[in-house]
Amino acid sequence: MNKSGCNESHPYDMKKLIIASNNPGKLAEFQTLLAPLGIEVVTQAQLGIKEAEEPHFTFIENALAKARHASRESGLPALADDSGICVDALNGMPGVISARYSGYPLSDIRNNQTLLEAMKMHTDRKAHYYCVLVLVRAADDAQPLIAEGEWHGEIALEPRGEGGFGYDPLFWLPELGKMSAELTRDEKHAISHRGRAMKVLLEKLKNA
Ligand code: IMP
Repeated sequence: MNKSGCNESHPYDMKKLIIASNNPGKLAEFQTLLAPLGIEVVTQAQLGIKEAEEPHFTFIENALAKARHASRESGLPALADDSGICVDALNGMPGVISARYSGYPLSDIRNNQTLLEAMKMHTDRKAHYYCVLVLVRAADDAQPLIAEGEWHGEIALEPRGEGGFGYDPLFWLPELGKMSAELTRDEKHAISHRGRAMKVLLEKLKNA
């Protein structure tokens, strides 16, 4: 990158990348996807870097804040994601506060109970997961690489399934007749919001 923060001819020719997340499920997915590109992946935790604050009202602002923080602290290019579930009948809630919907300490089980309670009177059960990925080459990168993905389904009446994490036991996929918690990791990855965003990001990386 030059002094103006703009791309040079081979802007993403990087050997090492930090992942700005401590979620083990997400880390495994990122490592698998980046391995073929010959990029060594390290995590925030491995370098003793604390998670960034997520004070913003949009996914993209939070993802950018996480990526810039990890890059600033490590001196490495950084990849961050921010994601959540948006429910039509709840005007997009819980959205950016999905992880902390039912407060602290964070609990997926309590979040699911809170969502079921909020949906009690609603017949419109439509919802979607959203994920945005942000790759910065440096903390002050003026042209971050940004990729988005969505995954549409419905909020079930009760939880089912052992796989996945978060709201997966409540995320009903009518066309498959399954909850997302009933998919294998590979099945989920092939169609999920994060899987879709990753495909877009890898495509952008190849063409950068
Ligand atoms: P983040 O780590 O700040 O991006 O928080 C994302 C939160 O959204 C998670 O803690 C889950 O509650 C929810 N979420 C995002 N992606 C998924 C998914 O693939 N399955 C289930 N829940 C998800």
